[in-house]
Amino acid sequence: DLHPIRRALLSVSDKTGLVEAARTLSEMGVELVSTGGTRKAISDAGLPVKDISELTGFPEMMDGRVKTLHPIVHGGLLGVRDAPEHKAAMDEHGIGGIDLVYVNLYPFEQTVASGADYETAVENIDIGGPAMIRSAAKNHGYVAVCTEPSDVAEVLEALKANGGKTPLSLRKTLAARAYARTASYDAAISSWFAAQLGEEAPRRRAFAGELVQTMRYGENPHQAAAFYRDANPRVGVATARQLQGKELSYNNINDTDAAFELIAEFDPAKAPAVAIIKHANPCGVATGATVLEAYQRALACDPVSAFGGIIALNTRLDAATAEKILELFTEVVIAPEVDDDSAALFAKKKNVRLLTTGGLPDALTPGVTFKSVSGGFLVQSRDTARLTAADLKVVTKREPTEAEVRDMLFAFTLAKHVKSNAIVYAKDGQSLGIGAGQMNRKDSARIAALRAADFNLDLTGSACASEAFFPFPDGLIQAAEAGCTAVIQPGGSIGDQKVIDAADERGLAMVFTGVRVFRH
Ligand code: 5GP
Repeated sequence: DLHPIRRALLSVSDKTGLVEAARTLSEMGVELVSTGGTRKAISDAGLPVKDISELTGFPEMMDGRVKTLHPIVHGGLLGVRDAPEHKAAMDEHGIGGIDLVYVNLYPFEQTVASGADYETAVENIDIGGPAMIRSAAKNHGYVAVCTEPSDVAEVLEALKANGGKTPLSLRKTLAARAYARTASYDAAISSWFAAQLGEEAPRRRAFAGELVQTMRYGENPHQAAAFYRDANPRVGVATARQLQGKELSYNNINDTDAAFELIAEFDPAKAPAVAIIKHANPCGVATGATVLEAYQRALACDPVSAFGGIIALNTRLDAATAEKILELFTEVVIAPEVDDDSAALFAKKKNVRLLTTGGLPDALTPGVTFKSVSGGFLVQSRDTARLTAADLKVVTKREPTEAEVRDMLFAFTLAKHVKSNAIVYAKDGQSLGIGAGQMNRKDSARIAALRAADFNLDLTGSACASEAFFPFPDGLIQAAEAGCTAVIQPGGSIGDQKVIDAADERGLAMVFTGVRVFRH
């Protein structure tokens, strides 16, 4: 199972650590072959290295599009050393075996992320690199393939331990990683193309992510977990910078995402807004004249649940707010920006995770969401529904007041971010009661009212949002009895008329959105 390394082909875009690796290989008596830039870097360090053109008899051509795509290279990678026919072909055509390949690809992902134009992105699609990686990985019986410096380090260690040979087990591991790399590379190209075409529907395209972090555990301690970032990430938790605090856990990331996606619905140019999230559901959301006021109003909605929660701001965290936040036990705070005074205050509580992003996730950008099912996964375009007053259809005798319209839109925006069945009571830019994740809508309406009562919040004159239609009048009656005077819901139930009648009997104003915002 041990195979010696006599000749190595190095062709790397990112040349970090290249010379050190080349030196070690060279000292072990390995012959080095390279493409233009890589060869130059190695020979500039005074090490012997052959140019690939010497082997192929062809120069690099077409702006580097064709460098290594040649039978001399691919024959050397793919030839089965023990197969007589392969051996004969190698001898006949003067093909020497290549036992180690180290290739890292043109930085397509980084090029796209830096906002490069179309032509530059296309030119950064590596062709020869993935071809070599795939050839070498297929022939892992003889060839060790590396796509990252850490792979090279492992190979060098194995060579030292095994007298210049690599074990098959390592070559298999490297092959598995190699195909993961080419798959994610192609997926990044595919999603970039889809984005260029403005393609929203998540159909017939590949998905891949870049590993950001492996965690100690997942949702529970007995589950393994890792965090991946999109090839072309939107601003959000995946692009956030952690200023301090313990490492983010699986649940932290999940909940922080829920918090930040919710708060991004609120334009900071209009008002500061703060959301407090527990288990991916909001337990308080509010706008305010200042960030501090927004936080205090959000907290007032449910100070009990807020313990150990995640706090998201749509604007810069200031010292006054930071001081108040630190009075509470909080897992994570995320904001587009954090001022120096707040950072200094947080530094005194080292465990609290503080994240900044430089911006907000764009609630309207097309994208996709995933959900796993046994044996597969579901993909859908993300929920970018956003309503304005013009979208609302009044279905009751009474027209809502302007203030009620504002409250209804606010409540419905929150309901979009609450697990179904979702009921949200709100007034004056403040959530007053949230009922989440119940198996019937009436219970959500009841729980939302109970919470409000627990914290002495007056629901009189508040708006009630339901993320999906009321199938029966009971949920609406519950809301009316709690004090709500305006109701917003999608409509569309065969029971609509009964629900409208119940609203009219109680003098409520009710609007239909025609848009459902389930979140299961
Ligand atoms: P160098 O800096 O050595 O000139 O180029 C190294 C890069 O070229 C590596 O990223 C490698 O994947 C890529 N590469 C090697 N062969 C080919 C090829 O035939 N076509 C293309 N497009 N890229 C190649």
